[in-house]
Amino acid sequence: MAELDQQALHSEMTAWRRDLHAHPEFGFEERRTAAFVAEKLRAFGLEVAEGVGGTGVVGTLTRGSGNLAIALRADMDALRIAEQGKQAWRSQTPGTMHACGHDGHTSMLLGAAKLLANEGGFDGTVRFIFQPAEEWGRGALAMLDDGLLERFPFEEIFGLHNMPGLPIGHFETRSGPVMSAEDNFEIVLKGLGGHAARPHAGQETLVAACALVVNLQTIVSRRLSPADVGVVSVTELITDGTRNALPGLARILGDCRSFRSEVSAAIEKEMRRIAEGTAQAYNVAAEITYTREFVPLINDAALVDEAFAAARMVLANNVVHVAAEPMTASEDFARFLDHVPGCFVFMGNGDTAPLHNPAYDFNDEGLLHGARFHAAVVRRRLALGS
Ligand SMILES: [Zn+2]
Ligand SMILES: [Zn+2]
Repeated sequence: MAELDQQALHSEMTAWRRDLHAHPEFGFEERRTAAFVAEKLRAFGLEVAEGVGGTGVVGTLTRGSGNLAIALRADMDALRIAEQGKQAWRSQTPGTMHACGHDGHTSMLLGAAKLLANEGGFDGTVRFIFQPAEEWGRGALAMLDDGLLERFPFEEIFGLHNMPGLPIGHFETRSGPVMSAEDNFEIVLKGLGGHAARPHAGQETLVAACALVVNLQTIVSRRLSPADVGVVSVTELITDGTRNALPGLARILGDCRSFRSEVSAAIEKEMRRIAEGTAQAYNVAAEITYTREFVPLINDAALVDEAFAAARMVLANNVVHVAAEPMTASEDFARFLDHVPGCFVFMGNGDTAPLHNPAYDFNDEGLLHGARFHAAVVRRRLALGS
C-alpha cells in the first residue's frame, strides 16, 4: 500500500484541528464535530457508526484475518470558557472553546485512521472511538451504556492527552494509578434565618458552615491513612443571608479526589459523620449529597510497556518518561478501563498555557507525533505475521 506523505498529512491535520478549534461544541452537543469526524472516516474507507452514546462516533478498520481488535480513543468536547487567543482559528462560539486540546486529540486520531487505512501494516481490527462529553465525565459511560463493547468489541484500549509543559514529541505515563477519581459533594445546612441583631432568636447557619469547612479538613489530615492519597476541597459557600439578616440556609459544595474506591468510600463516610455532628453542635440540620463523577484511571503494566515501545518506534529513545506520581486530575477514559485493559499516555504540548486556561491552544507541532503513535500502537499490538 502507498505510504502517505508525512508533510501533506501534517498540513491536512493542522487544517482539521484549526477548523475544529474554530467550532467548539460542549459535551453531548458535538453534532458538527461528529459529522466532521464521520465524513472523514468514510472518506478513508472505514465503516462508521454515528450516534453511539449520543454524539459518539465509532470507525472500524479491518486488515488481514487476525481475530484481535484494539480500540483507540479520542474525545471531542469543548469547555464553557471564553477564549482569549487572537489566532485566526480562535473560537467562533462566544463562551465556548477547546481549552483542553480535544480538537487536537480528534485530529490526531483522524490522522491515525488515514495513515492506517492507506498504509495498513497490521493484521486485525481497529476501533476508532470518538467520545462525547469527556469534561462532564459522562461520555464514555453513555457509549458503554449504548452497547459499545457488544456492538464494536475490542480487547484493549489506548488513549492520549496533550500535556502543556512537556516538550513536543515527549510521552509520559506510568503503570497502575495515573489519574484520580473525582467525587462531588453538597452539604445544605438548614436552620432559621432572622435579624442580625438577634442571633439567639433563630438558628443561623453561617457560623456552623464556617466550622464545618474547617472540620472537613480533618478527613485527609486525621482520618485517612498517611499512605493513602486523598483531597477534600470546599469550593463554594453560599448562604441566603444579607447585610442585616442571618442566613437560615447555607450550602457548601466541593470536590474530592482519590485513587482507590476504599478511600473514596472512607471520605464519604467521614464527611457524613462530620457534617451531621457539626450541624448538631450548632443546632442546625444537615443534608448531604455525595456523587461519584470519575473513577480512578489505572493503566495496565504490560500495555504501558507496549505504549512506550510504540512511542520509541515513532521517536528517539530519550523522549519516553515514566511519570513519578499519579495526578489528582480525572479522565473519563478510566471508564473503558473498568472493562478492558489499556493504557493512557500524556504527550508533550510544549511551552503553552495550561489546560482549561482561556489562553490555551493545542500545539499543532505535535499532531504528527500523536497520529504516528496511535498507528505504531496498532502495528505492535496487531503485528503482521503474529
Ligand atoms: Zn479538560
Ligand atoms: Zn481533556
